[in-house]
Amino acid sequence: MFMPRSGLETLKPYSVEEVDWPIKLDANERSTDLPPAVKAKVIENLRALPFNRYPDISALSLKTVIADGFGLTAANVLIGNGSSEILEALCFAFGGAGRSIVYPTPSFSMYGIYVKLADSQPVPVELNADYTLDADKLLTAANQAAASIILLCNPNNPTGTIIPPEQIEYIVANTKSLVVVDEAYHEFYGKSSVDLLGKYTNVAIARTFSKAYGLAAARVGYLLAPEEIAQTIGKVLLPYNVNALTLATAKTVFAMRQEFAASLAENSSERERMTAALSAVSGLTVYPSQTNFLLVKSDNAAALAARLSARGIGVRDFSTAPGLAGCIRIGVGTPAENNAVLEAVTA
Ligand SMILES: *Cc1c(COP(=O)(O)O)cnc(C)c1O
Repeated sequence: MFMPRSGLETLKPYSVEEVDWPIKLDANERSTDLPPAVKAKVIENLRALPFNRYPDISALSLKTVIADGFGLTAANVLIGNGSSEILEALCFAFGGAGRSIVYPTPSFSMYGIYVKLADSQPVPVELNADYTLDADKLLTAANQAAASIILLCNPNNPTGTIIPPEQIEYIVANTKSLVVVDEAYHEFYGKSSVDLLGKYTNVAIARTFSKAYGLAAARVGYLLAPEEIAQTIGKVLLPYNVNALTLATAKTVFAMRQEFAASLAENSSERERMTAALSAVSGLTVYPSQTNFLLVKSDNAAALAARLSARGIGVRDFSTAPGLAGCIRIGVGTPAENNAVLEAVTA
């Protein structure tokens, strides 16, 4: 008789509420489509693409453009069907039965799922009450578990808070685990741990095109890692894992990434405006964010979510998640969308 693989019974199907919100601030996407000049170039390049051919098997063309942007070589780059695929592959390649993977909590909920899919032991380490990280506590947990991987999300989703790069270097320098820094929100923050790649052999950096670069529809992300690590993870990725349309699109967007500067500046000023305005509302606490979303804690999260949804504003309710009691994550949208949030909250 056939049965699901052991371990799968503990996994719930990943479900997010699929509602067509008029104002969609629930998934940390870019709030508008690509800058028009970028979209025009993407379409021009797609028009020239031979749809009958398999993609470039090792995605070498995109890897090379990305590697050049970081002063690395193509052998240091992996391309995934979203950075999700690469993070999962990394757990498959360096995790496995009997291995432990350490990550702070609360953080990206998918980490626990990748760890379980890889048959590994999840070792979540609680963040401090203000969502800062206690590096020594994390290192102790990693040492005790002889962890094969430490996953860090910087800036952190869903809290929006950061781990100072010096603290990440301290962790990398004081562990034998592979430290993976998920920099999905890097472009909103500006600081990175990429420089550690030149100094340490136990570090890798994951990035995505889904957030600041507005390509959530295309599903593409990448990993920067020492050559041997990239090669090992490459063994668990299927050939042609990323389709040719996506590869061509990401290549255009990466080459034109300067075109996103104005939106990043607007995100930053809108985020500060929203932080100040929401902090002034009694009963609300806003955590300092270096991303395109705000984590807001409310005395009455259910009422806050209801006020927003009544006005067609979709946000992500984390109020029943561990370590996030009363918290709702609200994306920073366009100025008009943000005004609608303020109206809903203060009405
Ligand atoms: C959105 C997100 C990702 C990745 O998204 P992909 O669309 O799979 O590239 C990875 N990590 C975090 C923390 C995210 O929020």
